[in-house]
Amino acid sequence: MTLADLKLPPITFHRAAHYTEGRTEPVRAFVNHRMVGTVAGTTSYFQNPATRPVSTHFGVGKISGKVVIHQYVPLDDTAYGNGNYDPSGRWDDWGYKTTEVNAQTVSIEHQDHWGDDSLKGIVLPEVQEASQKLQALIRWGTIAQWKAAGITIRNWDTNAPILRKEISNIPVDGHHIIMHWDIAGALKPYCWRPWQKDTVGFPRSTYVARIRDTYREALQLVPPPPVVETVTLPKADYDRLLAEKATLLTDKAALVAALEKANGYVAKLLLKLQDIQAVIDRA
Ligand SMILES: [Zn+2]
Repeated sequence: MTLADLKLPPITFHRAAHYTEGRTEPVRAFVNHRMVGTVAGTTSYFQNPATRPVSTHFGVGKISGKVVIHQYVPLDDTAYGNGNYDPSGRWDDWGYKTTEVNAQTVSIEHQDHWGDDSLKGIVLPEVQEASQKLQALIRWGTIAQWKAAGITIRNWDTNAPILRKEISNIPVDGHHIIMHWDIAGALKPYCWRPWQKDTVGFPRSTYVARIRDTYREALQLVPPPPVVETVTLPKADYDRLLAEKATLLTDKAALVAALEKANGYVAKLLLKLQDIQAVIDRA
């Protein structure tokens, strides 16, 4: 399986006029928004320096009938999508720091306007699916796969590995795959709760299940574990241990010596585990 099997819509970069370079906090959550508009309209709004300073990292929608993913802010930078915190949401109940909210999040806007009043407020299934695949890629993909998919990061060499590590530490659950209302409460009552023709709001459990399971397991975005060099007990030592088995049970000094030898192998195994962790950290 390869990245191509994810069938992720194209990701194109459209730099927002307003955002801050860098992040002052680790990434802790993915925040889902409803545009109350189209991806094309959102893109031109975010790119216009004369508008109020708002932006998100991504916008998912359709242009000329095709699902597209627009990125507005590099993933290692801070978008202005979630900053207005209000305690009537759930963010603080879950123990999140309530300042620098934008620095702690990756934000994704979803198109809900289709020029058809019967669909007003509804995020179409194919748009949700593209967003789930995008979040699965960011969550599970390697840095090489991020790059190949067209994700923009300002500083690949330094920041991408840091992001990769932070994101791999985020639990995949409904406290970390959230909607804007969870942060902004009464300030954003409809983002993304039931509104107009949308009677469901943000389908949290579906997002969690598909990001956690469907698009990871089906597409095996996680690289296979590295080949581990086996640590073998040399045959001579093994034979001696067998021969001394009876003595070990009665001779305390011999037992201690054998345990010390075994300890040496445990230490070697721990070093191997550290090597494997280093490979995972670099991936
Ligand atoms: Zn929002």
